[in-house]
Amino acid sequence: MYEFIEKLVDEMKDKIIGYRRDFHKYPEFAWTEFRTASLIAKVLIDNGYKIKIGKEVINDKYRMNIPSKEELDKSYKRAINQGAYEDICKLMRGGYTAVVGILENGDGPSISLRFDMDGVRIKESEDYSHIPFKNSFSSNNDGIMHACGHDGHIAIGLGVAEVIVKMKKYFKGTIKLIFQPAEEGVSGARAISESNLLDGVDYIISGHIGIKARKSGEIICGTDGFLATSKINAEFKGKSSHAGVAPEKGHNALLSAATAVLNLDAIPRNGEGDTRINVGKLIAGSGRNVIPGRAFMEIETRGETTELNRYMENYAERILMASAEMHDTHVNIKCVGKSISASSDDELVKLIKNVANNIKEYTIIREKDSFGASEDVCYMMNKVQANGGKASYIMFGSNLKAEHHSPMFDFNEKDMLCAVKLYSELILKIAADRDV
Ligand SMILES: [Zn+2]
Ligand SMILES: [Zn+2]
Repeated sequence: MYEFIEKLVDEMKDKIIGYRRDFHKYPEFAWTEFRTASLIAKVLIDNGYKIKIGKEVINDKYRMNIPSKEELDKSYKRAINQGAYEDICKLMRGGYTAVVGILENGDGPSISLRFDMDGVRIKESEDYSHIPFKNSFSSNNDGIMHACGHDGHIAIGLGVAEVIVKMKKYFKGTIKLIFQPAEEGVSGARAISESNLLDGVDYIISGHIGIKARKSGEIICGTDGFLATSKINAEFKGKSSHAGVAPEKGHNALLSAATAVLNLDAIPRNGEGDTRINVGKLIAGSGRNVIPGRAFMEIETRGETTELNRYMENYAERILMASAEMHDTHVNIKCVGKSISASSDDELVKLIKNVANNIKEYTIIREKDSFGASEDVCYMMNKVQANGGKASYIMFGSNLKAEHHSPMFDFNEKDMLCAVKLYSELILKIAADRDV
């Protein structure tokens, strides 16, 4: 059976690479993945999957950091112009860009695989040594790029979708292929996790190309050490006034923000474990001779555990409020993204390792490593584990051409094939029909 899968996947090489290149060419931001999700839905429908889409799998209460109506409308029109299926897009209007393919294949375990599908706000390199540019499949959408590898994740997901339909008679169970919007900024997974999609799911498995697995042929079967994180926007509102005639009549929002920045970086380290803080953006003031009436900041906190991140977030909020008080301004604090920590189940990690051992392309098989960054799939992992299920997160090795989130980011496309084999064979391992 495994030989059958290997052969099938090898024959799909051009198709899988073709998917990746097409998605790479048309990257979309968080909650605007209309074209991407509609094309995915079409492939799933064509392969006989039952589809759940948009509000069916999104709990609106937990959607975070939704773009403005203008941006949503603009992205929607662009998607249609770039070949999206309009009938499917209609079901996602307003930024409900999640799609799930469900295959009900008799009594057996319920297994979910999760793939993310959004791009990063970065301009893609136009250097001839950058293969997507050289081979004419670099981003057509200015200022957005698949610079994290999510285009590869989608292609892997679609490859798996096709393979498992062809091995239907060899396993029993329910498969849910979850294509999640808005992973960048960790604002998408929770809304799906808080819908009823994961009820009764026994296994949730996800993964990422690269991160800590930097060589083709390498695989890390389980991941721990996801940093819990909060993405916070803070807006200080003060009062503008003449900087020469009446500076005392102003309420200086820039000063509040500057005070906050210096003190945010001064939050004490925590003896319980690793923490992070970053103020990544600060815009303030309107002109040289005006007391600044407004300041806006983008901040993120992280922690090795959910509790450590809460420590950072609470401390940061206190500093923001005190900084407002100090210069008599008002601060509006908004959480626009959040993720918790998670860990992979040893039993499932061992199973993944067994499967990887059977795939000849995998020559460096590592059991576990820590992620060292944040991933909102942790909400889904925690949800399934809380219901008695198992979770694991795999890092798929690839010779990366540059760091994630950089304009030259690229990976070795052949490595997607190993991932398709791994997921497909893992499903078979978990849900094999013993009667066949
Ligand atoms: Zn990323
Ligand atoms: Zn990513």
